[in-house]
Amino acid sequence: MKISKIYSPNFDKKKRSNNSIKLVIIHYTGMQSERESLFKLCDVKSKVSSHFVIGQNGKIYRLVQDNQIAWHAGKSCWGKYKNLNKNSIGIELVNKGHQFNYTNFKKKQLKSLIQICKLLIKKYKIKKKNLIGHSDVAPLRKADPGEKFPWKHLAAKGIGNWHQCKPSLLRQNRNIKILNKTDKTKFIRNLSKIGYCFSSKKKSFYIKILRAFQRHYRKELINGVLDKECMIIAQNLSKKL
Ligand SMILES: [Zn+2]
Repeated sequence: MKISKIYSPNFDKKKRSNNSIKLVIIHYTGMQSERESLFKLCDVKSKVSSHFVIGQNGKIYRLVQDNQIAWHAGKSCWGKYKNLNKNSIGIELVNKGHQFNYTNFKKKQLKSLIQICKLLIKKYKIKKKNLIGHSDVAPLRKADPGEKFPWKHLAAKGIGNWHQCKPSLLRQNRNIKILNKTDKTKFIRNLSKIGYCFSSKKKSFYIKILRAFQRHYRKELINGVLDKECMIIAQNLSKKL
């Protein structure tokens, strides 16, 4: 695997130990081009960076060393971890994103991503539940890598978590709204088990987390409304944890 090195100055001065690396966070760049993305992630004024960037043609760039804390996650939370830069490796995929012209991720790009993820999982013993997207850990602010990101495909390669539910069963239960409080409480408990952080009891907050969950696990309908299909998926995912 060929990795091109480009230096980004955007990382903490203090180094970290290998065993503080617990998560891998996937992003999209959300900018017009690869060039523009690399420029921003290496610009001292932008104060953002990531460990890796993967171009649409599959080219891999390393911007920050693993033992340095890159600035990619911002205010974020997953399971017992908070402000995840210090505990994570950030991987940016070049894609214009929702703001411009959100397109499918390219085959070569995903191939490179899978290679890197496999290495990282092995090296740092990353748990399946801790390989997630930016929107999962910062649902109030972020929507990347978005609903076009093929989580199921990656999970089939051993990367990240996926459910075991039958597609026909899921379709039957789509959009059947859940209104009772007990089920909703159960759902929130399952989402917390998966890793989502409910740090506020506000309804707007809950809706954003629900949307992040749907973006990741039920991309066919992202509406922030709890239905039976979401209940079934969350139940299945949390059963293994
Ligand atoms: Zn991001």
